[in-house]
Amino acid sequence: MSKLNPRQQEAVNYISGPLLVLAGAGSGKTSVITRKIAYLIQQCGISARHIVAVTFTNKAAREMKERVTALLRGAEGHGLTVSTFHNLGLNIIRREHSLLGYKPGFSIFDDSDVKSLLTDIMQKEYAGDDGADEIKNLISQWKNDLILPDEALAQARGTKEQTAAIVYSHYQRTLKAYNAVDFDDLILQPVKLFQNHPDVLDKWRNRIRYMLVDEYQDTNASQYLLVKLLVKERAQFTVVGDDDQSIYAWRGARPENLMQLKEDFPSLKVIMLEQNYRSTGRILKCANTLISNNPHEFVKELWSDMGFGDEIRVIRCRNEDAEAERIALEILTEHLRSQRPYSDFAILYRGNYQAKIMELKLQVHKIPYRLSGGTSFFGRQEVKDLMSYFRLLVNPDDDNAFLRVINVPRREIGSTTLEKLSTYATERQVSLYEASAEIGLSEHLGPRYTERLSRFKHYMDKLRQRCFSDDPILALKDMIIDIDYENWIRQNSSSEKACEFRMGNVWFLIDALKNTLERDEAGDMTIEEAIAKLVLRDMLERQEEDEDGAEGVQMMTLHASKGLEFPSVYIMGMEEEILPHRSSIETDTIEEERRLAYVGITRARRNLTFTFASKRKQYGETIECTPSRFLDELPSEDLQWEGLEEAPVEVKAARGNSALADIRAMLKK
Ligand code: ATP
Ligand code: MG
Repeated sequence: MSKLNPRQQEAVNYISGPLLVLAGAGSGKTSVITRKIAYLIQQCGISARHIVAVTFTNKAAREMKERVTALLRGAEGHGLTVSTFHNLGLNIIRREHSLLGYKPGFSIFDDSDVKSLLTDIMQKEYAGDDGADEIKNLISQWKNDLILPDEALAQARGTKEQTAAIVYSHYQRTLKAYNAVDFDDLILQPVKLFQNHPDVLDKWRNRIRYMLVDEYQDTNASQYLLVKLLVKERAQFTVVGDDDQSIYAWRGARPENLMQLKEDFPSLKVIMLEQNYRSTGRILKCANTLISNNPHEFVKELWSDMGFGDEIRVIRCRNEDAEAERIALEILTEHLRSQRPYSDFAILYRGNYQAKIMELKLQVHKIPYRLSGGTSFFGRQEVKDLMSYFRLLVNPDDDNAFLRVINVPRREIGSTTLEKLSTYATERQVSLYEASAEIGLSEHLGPRYTERLSRFKHYMDKLRQRCFSDDPILALKDMIIDIDYENWIRQNSSSEKACEFRMGNVWFLIDALKNTLERDEAGDMTIEEAIAKLVLRDMLERQEEDEDGAEGVQMMTLHASKGLEFPSVYIMGMEEEILPHRSSIETDTIEEERRLAYVGITRARRNLTFTFASKRKQYGETIECTPSRFLDELPSEDLQWEGLEEAPVEVKAARGNSALADIRAMLKK
C-alpha cells in the first residue's frame, strides 16, 4: 500500500469539521476518500453502517467499494454504503415510499418512457407534440432546481414556459398514477420528503454519521441540498473535487457549488493537493497548458515525478474508417509486442455514436473490448421488452410498461381496442392492467377483445404470484417459454444467427437479475428491489454487466472516463464540431468542452495519442474536417504529428483478414 503524502494524510485524519479537498486530476482525491473510510472505521470506531460515500457512476462506485474492501478486515465493511447519488435517492424512496405516496415496486421511467408519456400528454391536451423535447428539458431543469409544478407555473415567463409548466403538472400527476418516478425524482423526492418530514430526516441523520462525496464539482442544486440536509447539524463530511473537471453543466452541475460550500459552512477547511501520481510530466504539462486557457477561480499547481515520458502523438487519418483501423492495429501490435494486457488501453470519444465503427474494427481484428455506455446492451429491443415485462410484474400500475408488452409477442390487440381500454381505465381511475379484466369493460369492447385482454391479465397475475412466493428467476424463465418469446424474436430477426444472439441477451438479462439478487449482502433483497436496481443501472450507464475478470480494451465516452486511469489512452475524433462539440461552438460554451478534453488527457498514465480524420461521412455526405482547436492549445514542442498514412508500414503489410497471424509471424522474426 502506497504511503500517503503529508497533505493527503492530513485530509484523511481531519474529522473535526467539514472538509473540502480541492485538487487537480490524479492527485489522490479518490484515494483520500477510500483511505478515510478505512480510517473512520478502524481508528475512529465509526461503524460502517453509519458511513455513506457517494460518487457519480456505477463503475466508480464499484471501484471505490473494491478499494475500500481491500483496506478492511473481515466484517468491518459490513453495511457500508458506497453508491451513486441516484442509488442513494432510490434507497431513500424505497424505505419511505408510503410517505411519498408510492406503492412498493414503483417503476423508474427512463428517457424513452418520459418522452412517450410527454408526447402522449401533449397530443391529448394540445393536439400536437411540437416542442416536446424542449419541454422535457425544462421539466428536468425545474426538477434539478427543486421547483415543483405550482412554483414553475407561478414563475413561468412567456407562453412556452407556461405551457411547459402546465404539462409538468399533468406529467407529475400521471407519473404518480403510474406509480412511477423519473430519474430526476430520485433526488427531488427525497429532498422534498426531508423538507416536509423533519422526523424522517432526523432518522436518516442519525443513520448517517459521516458522509463523503467524490467528484463534488459535478453535484447539482438538488444533489447538493440532499447532502446538506443529511449532514446539516454535525456537518461531518468530506467532499473532494476539481473545478477543472466539472463536465455536467447540462445536468445542472455548477462549479460555483464549490464556493457555496464555504458560505454554507463557514468552518469549512480546505486542503489542496499538488502532486500528481498518475501521469508522466509531459502528459501533465499538456493538461495544464490546455486548461490554462480557461479562466480560473482557484490556481492549482500540479506536478509529477513520474519522469517526463514519451511524446504525445497526434495522428491524422484519411477518414473515420482509417482512424478506427489505425487505433485497432496499434493496440494489437502493442499487445503482441510488449505483452501488455488489452485492459491497459482505453479509447475515449466525445459521443457514443463514434463507438460503432471502432467496435467493428476491434471485432474484425478479434481484439476483446469492453464497451461502457452506449446502447449496446440495454438499448436492444429484446432487453427493453423483457425489462418492460419485469416492470409490469412488480408494478401493475405502470401503463407504459403495459403498452410496451401487450403486443409483444403479438396478441392481436389493436390500437382501437387499446384506446377504448384507455378511456375506460381513465373513467374508472384504474390502471390499464387492472382495467383489462374488469367486468364493465365488456360494455365497451367485443367479447373477443375482452377475452384476449383478460387472458393476458390472468396469466400475468399468476406469474406475479409465483414471482413473490416462489423462485422468481425460475418463474421468469418459464414466462419466456410460455409466451414463446423465442419464436417472436425469430420472426423479427434477419437470420437464425441474429435470433440466437438476441436470445443470448435475454438469458444474459435473466442472469444479471439473478446476480443482483444473489449479490445482496444482507440477503433480503426482494425481486422488486432487484428490478429497480437493474433499471437504474441501465439508466445510469447503459453499460454491460461487468463480467468478473473480463479483460479487454476499454471503450467509453469522455464523460464516462471520469475518475479512471489507464496506461495508454487514445482520444479519437479530435476535430472541430466533435470536440469541441458543435452545440458548444454555437452557444459559446467551449470552456466545458475544454474541461472534458482535460478529463480525457488526465486519464493517461504513460502514453497519450490523439487521432482525427481529414474527411468523414456525415448524413451520407463526405465532409472535410478541421482539427480541434484544442490541439493548437497544447504545447507544440511535446507533440509528435504523424502524417496521412493510416498505419505504420510494418502493420500495413499485415493487413487483411489474417492480420493477427501475420503480426504474430512478423513479431517472431
Ligand atoms: P481524478 O481527479 O482523476 O479523479 P484523483 O485525484 O481522484 O484523480 P486518484 O485516482 O485517487 O486521484 O489517484 C491517482 C493515482 O495515484 C492512483 O493510481 C493512486 O493509487 C495513486 N496515488 C494516490 N496517492 C498516492 C500516493 N501518496 N503515493 C503513490 N501513489 C498514489
Ligand atoms: Mg478521483
